[in-house]
Amino acid sequence: MLNALDADTEAMVGRKPLEGRSAIVTGSTSGIGLGIAQALAKAGAAVMLNGFGNPAEIETLRAALADDNDVDVAYDCADMSRPDAIHMMVERATARFGQIDIVVNNAGIQHVAPIGTFPAEKWDAIMAINLSSAFHLVQATFDAMCARRYGRIVNVASAHGLVASPFKSAYVAAKHGMVGLTKTIALEGAEFGVTANAICPGYVWTPLVEHQIDDQAKSHNIARDAVIRDVFLKNQPTKRFATVEEMGALSVFLCSDLAASITGTAIPVDGGWTAH
Ligand code: NAD
Repeated sequence: MLNALDADTEAMVGRKPLEGRSAIVTGSTSGIGLGIAQALAKAGAAVMLNGFGNPAEIETLRAALADDNDVDVAYDCADMSRPDAIHMMVERATARFGQIDIVVNNAGIQHVAPIGTFPAEKWDAIMAINLSSAFHLVQATFDAMCARRYGRIVNVASAHGLVASPFKSAYVAAKHGMVGLTKTIALEGAEFGVTANAICPGYVWTPLVEHQIDDQAKSHNIARDAVIRDVFLKNQPTKRFATVEEMGALSVFLCSDLAASITGTAIPVDGGWTAH
């Protein structure tokens, strides 16, 4: 009751909902991660960006995000497939921001191929980047969150964390794993003010999806334009791509004080796909 009143008072005096919080968003140089980082910064959080890309472009992005929102924004190039790099990123973020309140595990890759010819090294890379990185990053930040009695973990899973599609064995396995990991973290953090939730997007138009078109066309033996209609949007009843802004808005809410009782969930943002 007191928390709700505090939040209402803050809203009335115009404080941003995440002012004073600091976040790490993995894979935030592009797509959904960038959309979430932008939304968190706009909500007042300091943000550590992460991901690959052209250094000059990333610096332009970082500076604009900081200037536009009057928050501290840093960048760390940690490769999410490397636990040592993840731990170093946490050390740098903690030194810069003082503490880490919010972790968004978003970095991810995809590979589409029939299971009989699915390359083992792609399986290993998808498991490391899409799933194990979340374990390592939460392990490095969780105890401090519990000690401060506040923490928000947002895991970007997928509709493929709830249902499967052919030719995506590693991705579907990793995303189902991400949903399971989310539930376990939620139970361990529940008494300490630390929540963990998975966001399960349907198809969102990002470079990750764009790069799948050729492989999907080959695996399904159909033309590129048919991939969009008959594969990507076939099961998405809204017949539109979800947007990175929608993922950002949900993340801000999950990180706010008013989401304190939402934990252990896997929230579909999939245009009705998993309602089938
Ligand atoms: P994207 O390709 O636009 O962005 C991926 C980000 O991850 C980039 O910033 C990239 O540099 C980073 N990244 C990749 N490998 C990395 C590594 N080893 N270390 C650090 N960073 C790395 O993709 P996206 O579509 O924005 O996907 C983001 C997340 O959303 C992924 O986990 C993906 O599985 C999930 N998702 C995407 C969709 C979709 O339709 N686009 C749907 C459901 C879930």
